[in-house]
Amino acid sequence: MSREKVPTHDEFMSGVEKRNPGQPEFIQAVYEVAADVLPFIEEHPHYNELQLLERMAEPERAVSFRVTWQDDLGNIRVNRGYRIQHNNSIGPYKGGIRFHPSVNQSVLKFLAFEQTFKNALTGLPMGGGKGGSNFNPKGKSEFETMRFCQAFMNELYRHIGEDTDIPAGDIGVGGREIGYMFGQFKKITNRFVGVLTGKGMDFGGSPIRTEATGYGAVYFMEAMLRNINQDLEGATCVVSGSGNVAQHAIEKILHLNGKPLTASDSSGFIYDKDGIDLEKLQFIKDLKTTRRGRIAEYAEKFGAEFHDGGAKPWSVPCDFAFPCATQNELDIDDAKMLVSNGLRGVAEGANMPTSADAIHHMQAARVLFAPGKAANAGGVAVSGLEMSQNSGRITWSEEELQRLLKQIMNDIHDRCARYGQVEGEKEYLDYVKGANIAGFVKVAGAMAAQGVV
Ligand code: GLU
Repeated sequence: MSREKVPTHDEFMSGVEKRNPGQPEFIQAVYEVAADVLPFIEEHPHYNELQLLERMAEPERAVSFRVTWQDDLGNIRVNRGYRIQHNNSIGPYKGGIRFHPSVNQSVLKFLAFEQTFKNALTGLPMGGGKGGSNFNPKGKSEFETMRFCQAFMNELYRHIGEDTDIPAGDIGVGGREIGYMFGQFKKITNRFVGVLTGKGMDFGGSPIRTEATGYGAVYFMEAMLRNINQDLEGATCVVSGSGNVAQHAIEKILHLNGKPLTASDSSGFIYDKDGIDLEKLQFIKDLKTTRRGRIAEYAEKFGAEFHDGGAKPWSVPCDFAFPCATQNELDIDDAKMLVSNGLRGVAEGANMPTSADAIHHMQAARVLFAPGKAANAGGVAVSGLEMSQNSGRITWSEEELQRLLKQIMNDIHDRCARYGQVEGEKEYLDYVKGANIAGFVKVAGAMAAQGVV
């Protein structure tokens, strides 16, 4: 083994950029991890000899396929489907499926890359993958959605399996879509196995999978605060998004006596000065899960402010921010505004919602910052527990799963804290660095043991 010199960040990234033209999201995700991992590799040269970060920056397999389906008017429609099988060193590929017009190979490669580190942080035996389609679920009828899910599975089924690759939900894919895809997988293969997670409770789903991502993000915030003898009691919280993750982040904030003030969708955000309570939250759940309406309806119903034009809620003064919508929704200007308004902490419920310069600005102001790969890992962790229950053909109780989720989030906190020490700081931890290095060490160890493959 020769490679003596660890590349600089610039050298490493210029190779990544050359190999992935036109893929800004993927390059951004690798850039952020490499910034923390390369200095660590400098201190542990055997990782360099085995070219482990270089290998991790390349998905093991990327499948792209045509999805053809028919809409309610009889028109033939064509979409593109993908599955990125990023890394299976510590377990079968695992990660969600996203249906959104913005989906392309760059977005899914970034998500699959992040997923590999996230899944490693959970401590469960899951590799990383991600899939999806540029299909836009907005405005589609129930039957159009079903036909699309079936058409998508007509190709996907040959790439997945309960011991190979286990997809789940993500943006645009919830319990309904998982049900349709599971039904089609079963129809094609004549096998009832745990090949997807996030299933309905009547056919192998796990208690609290729906709640897990949002609850987990708030548990992670609680763990960071506990570490410095603080809590969420009475704290104002700004949440973006209004889907599954945002809804359950709001719910857990309420359980812990915090005050959630906002929710958003692509049309804008609502700001409820009195706070969103459990009853108002139920309205958001019905609005977004059953009726599939716009968030402005909340403002009309409860007399809250509505800021339109796709506005983000970061101008609202708060103690804590929970970006739970999508990637790159919080930039440097937002970060400056939040910090000047007295922000104390951020936990990312979405994947890569915050830009790198925004993170650095907040960390420089000693804001506690939990990156998505740590803070939103509760969702995939409960997916891992769903896989275990399916393999054993059993169902664990809700109490047991609640306990396990909390335990897993606390363990992820401690793993990040271990590698997140900052020189010259007694109390303040760099959870971004901690998550990147802890995830890398686990995956790299497994890859090293399994040889050059
Ligand atoms: N899509 C979710 C995530 O970003 C969940 C993945 C899963 O449950 O497999 O982690």
